[in-house]
Amino acid sequence: MDNKRIIIAIDGHSSCGKSTFAKAIASRLGYIFIDTGAMYRAVTLYALEHGAIHSGIVEESAVEAMLDDIDIDFRFNPARGASDIYVNGDLVEGKIRTIEVSNCVSAVSSIAAVRTKLVAIQQLMGQKGGVVMDGRDIGTTVFPDAELKIYMTADAMVRAERRYRELTAKGDDVTLEEVYRNVVSRDEADMSRKISPLRKADDAIVLDNSSMSVEEQMAWFDREYHRVVGK
Ligand code: C5P
Repeated sequence: MDNKRIIIAIDGHSSCGKSTFAKAIASRLGYIFIDTGAMYRAVTLYALEHGAIHSGIVEESAVEAMLDDIDIDFRFNPARGASDIYVNGDLVEGKIRTIEVSNCVSAVSSIAAVRTKLVAIQQLMGQKGGVVMDGRDIGTTVFPDAELKIYMTADAMVRAERRYRELTAKGDDVTLEEVYRNVVSRDEADMSRKISPLRKADDAIVLDNSSMSVEEQMAWFDREYHRVVGK
C-alpha cells in the first residue's frame, strides 16, 4: 500500500470488535494501533484500587484528585502484536477487562478532567499520523480531521455473546445476561453523556459487522482505504 500515513479513527458501540479490527488494520499498514478504551479502563482500575469507587459508586472529586498520580504508557508486546498498557510502570493489560472495571468505566470516562487528560495524550500519540485509534470520540473530538473515519456497530446480543465468550475463555465467572446488561448500559451512558458523547461523525462510514467474518471486514476496509488514499 502507499506511503501516505494517515489517521484512521474507529468509533462505535461497546464490544463490537473495534480493537480486533483496528489491530488487524494497523498490522496490515504498518501503523501504530492505539486502544483508547484501555486508557479509560486503566484510570478506572486505578480509581478502584485507590479507594475512589465504593460499591460501584464513582467519587468524581476523588478521581480528579488522583489524576496527576496516574502515568499511562504503552509498550509494544511482540507476542500480542500490539501494545500493552502500563500504569506507573506496572503492566495492567490483564486487569482492565474485568466486568468490575467495565461496570464503572463509563462513569469514570464522563468526568471532564479525565477526558481532558486522556485526549491530550491521544492527540500527542497520533500527531505524526500512521495510527489507527479506536474509541468513542476519536472522529468527533480527538482527531476531527482524520482522513478515514469508521463507525462500527453490531446487534447488541451478538456483541454480548462475543464478549461473554472472551471473558469465560479467560476463566471469568460471568453470565451472558450480566455481560448483555453491561454492553447495553455502557452504550446508553456513552451516548448520553454531556462531554464528547459517542455519535457517528458526519463524515464517518458505518460498518455493521453483526454477520461479517474478520476476512469480510478486512475486504471491506481495503475498498474504503483505497477510496480514501487512492491506489
Ligand atoms: O473500548 P472499550 O469498551 O474498552 O472502552 C471502555 C469505556 O471507555 C467505554 O465504554 C467508554 O465509557 C470509555 N471510552 C470513552 N472514550 C474513548 C474510549 C473509551 O469514553 N475514546
